[in-house]
Amino acid sequence: MPTSVSEAVSMLDTSRGKALPIAGGTDLLAYWPERLDARDKTYLDLSGVDELCGHTWTDDELIMRARTTFWEIVCDQRATAEMRLLVEAARTVGAIQIQTRGTWGGNIVNASPAADGVLALMALDATLELTGVEGTEEVQLDEFYLGYKQMKRREDQLLTRIRIPRRAYTFQSFTKIGTRKAQAITKVGLAIAKSDSGWRIAANSMAPTVKRCPDLERMLEDETPIRNPTDFLPAIRADVSPIDDIRSTAAYREHVMARVLFHELAPLCPWVGAKSKSE
Ligand SMILES: Cc1cc2nc3c(=O)[nH]c(=O)nc-3n(C[C@H](O)[C@H](O)[C@H](O)COP(=O)(O)OP(=O)(O)OC[C@H]3O[C@@H](n4cnc5c(N)ncnc54)[C@H](O)[C@@H]3O)c2cc1C
Repeated sequence: MPTSVSEAVSMLDTSRGKALPIAGGTDLLAYWPERLDARDKTYLDLSGVDELCGHTWTDDELIMRARTTFWEIVCDQRATAEMRLLVEAARTVGAIQIQTRGTWGGNIVNASPAADGVLALMALDATLELTGVEGTEEVQLDEFYLGYKQMKRREDQLLTRIRIPRRAYTFQSFTKIGTRKAQAITKVGLAIAKSDSGWRIAANSMAPTVKRCPDLERMLEDETPIRNPTDFLPAIRADVSPIDDIRSTAAYREHVMARVLFHELAPLCPWVGAKSKSE
């Protein structure tokens, strides 16, 4: 049970992969003690590391330290005013018990393809700070995941901070399609943001990792006319690769994603849903 980041990373380093950081425990303890690969592990309890708590606003950024809980962001009126995506994502995570205990850092490092916090953060261009025995590195969140549950993080590194640029957003939308409003794992998730840095679209449960969607973003930048939801399908297929699983089929996910895009964008973008003169 370390009390500082430097003590924690030195413990991670000497454990050589045997120690797993535990923050809220809402992912880790769901598997404990059944998961075989966890039997020979020990836990590095981060609850005594105050440096990892809380969030602050600077002139340019919102800085969340890794143990910031979802509930903290739900309760921050500034987040509602400026980064509604974060608040909407946080409100969909489990239910209030999970939101008060689960952390943004745990959501990122758990690396679920269905992670709702990661979805919002990716559409807001978040940058991660990873601290290890050799110092601190920065990684853009949309470059952090390398494949299913694989990421650019060494075993001695802790995720310490998540930095989100403050921008004037003209549009933010968060959609989670699940079986019900709470305690549901996402079948199709979409976060859309528009600022003077351009369009950002991120999707979850549509690929082995949460993914940014550059082809869709380009369609919006170019104002490519979209008359029907199906016009989005070629770009969706270029950007993501959904699978059939116990929750949904790949075809269902693609079609729902196309309809959500159409539904969210048509009221805002004159080139989405417009009929040609001959129609
Ligand atoms: C009933 C239930 C409902 C849920 N619903 C949702 C949902 O709707 N949407 C959703 O996205 N998730 C959901 N989750 C999953 C979970 O709550 C979130 O992913 C949460 O953000 C995990 O945070 P945590 O602090 O509890 O992580 P932990 O369980 O403590 O850790 C998760 C992973 O991150 C690592 N880790 C944690 N902190 C750090 C750090 N600072 N540096 C390096 N590694 C770290 C751990 O080693 C572990 O691998 C649900 C879970 C439960 C039990």
